[in-house]
Amino acid sequence: NSIKLENLVQLGKIGSGNSGTVIKALHVPDSRIVAKKTIPVESNNHLVVNQLVRELTIMKSVHMHDNIVSFYGAYYTHASNNEIIILMEYMNCGSLDKILSVYKRHVARHAPSRIVPWFNGLVISKISHGVLNGLLYLYERYKIIHRDIKPSNVLINSKGQVKICDFGVSKKLINSIADTFVGTSTYMSPERIQGNVYSIKGDVWSLGLVIIELVTGEFPLGGHNDTPDGILDLLQRIVNEPSPKLPQGQGYEFPKEMIDFVNRCCVKEESQRSSIQELLCHDFIDMYKSRDKDYKHWCKKVKVRIREDKQIRREDNERAKLEQM
Ligand code: ADP
Ligand code: MG
Repeated sequence: NSIKLENLVQLGKIGSGNSGTVIKALHVPDSRIVAKKTIPVESNNHLVVNQLVRELTIMKSVHMHDNIVSFYGAYYTHASNNEIIILMEYMNCGSLDKILSVYKRHVARHAPSRIVPWFNGLVISKISHGVLNGLLYLYERYKIIHRDIKPSNVLINSKGQVKICDFGVSKKLINSIADTFVGTSTYMSPERIQGNVYSIKGDVWSLGLVIIELVTGEFPLGGHNDTPDGILDLLQRIVNEPSPKLPQGQGYEFPKEMIDFVNRCCVKEESQRSSIQELLCHDFIDMYKSRDKDYKHWCKKVKVRIREDKQIRREDNERAKLEQM
């Protein structure tokens, strides 16, 4: 059941990030929609690249888990120069960063007073549950540490599933990707920045930051940092400043369980930080156990909002073009 690249019809661009470009594609033989990621690699050496592809193919064994994006195959096409192609399951609500920006535009278009926050306790609890479950599975079954938990690597679909993608299987691959550190914000834990032993708890820290970003709309620890100086400054803040927290007052209201949960993720001292297993037993995960239906409903609504947003933006674009003529 492996996919041949020539059986894919490209349907449109989904997004691009540090490592490459992701396209939505149709696999004609079984009408399956897939996500096709193209990663430029710096190495000109076919042997090296083929080794990378082999390593990536190991990911094929990591699949069939509710909280991991399925991997369909990795390819190195000699026709196009130094590119690796990864095919994976398409998630139709996209990543958390995308949903957050759709939400921000939604708020900007409507009177803010009437807006109900999208990322409420229920939604954050379900997302956290999915991420933690996925991380635990990767680690217990394969001893894989994700290393890159951030909003764009947590994906959602309208069936109400939460899945993680882009885990760090191959350090070599990451090193060979051009411009890896053109990043803006970083979800790296203090111990990782300081070069200490890096454990799976680093991903717990990242999850804490992601939650704060989703509910406030801003990356905690001081905005985005596009320059090399800005990045250095941010790294220093992560190490030196007190732990980030959920905001209090200012119109924010969170369940006390959620506040405690985030506090346990965002502990700077790794040994004091809660483990994945501990967090999976936390009241914040437990208290919404019976609310799967509501969460699924939320995902469906988000899907509709994404489509609306796309339509509005297309119209805005066309209007702008006409005005330029
Ligand atoms: P990054 O994660 O650094 O943003 P990627 O190249 O991994 O860069 O992904 C680019 C964008 O494509 C992501 O932000 C996400 O919105 C989208 N994306 C990636 N994989 C999928 C997928 N399997 N299904 C749907 N959207 C995806
Ligand atoms: Mg990614």
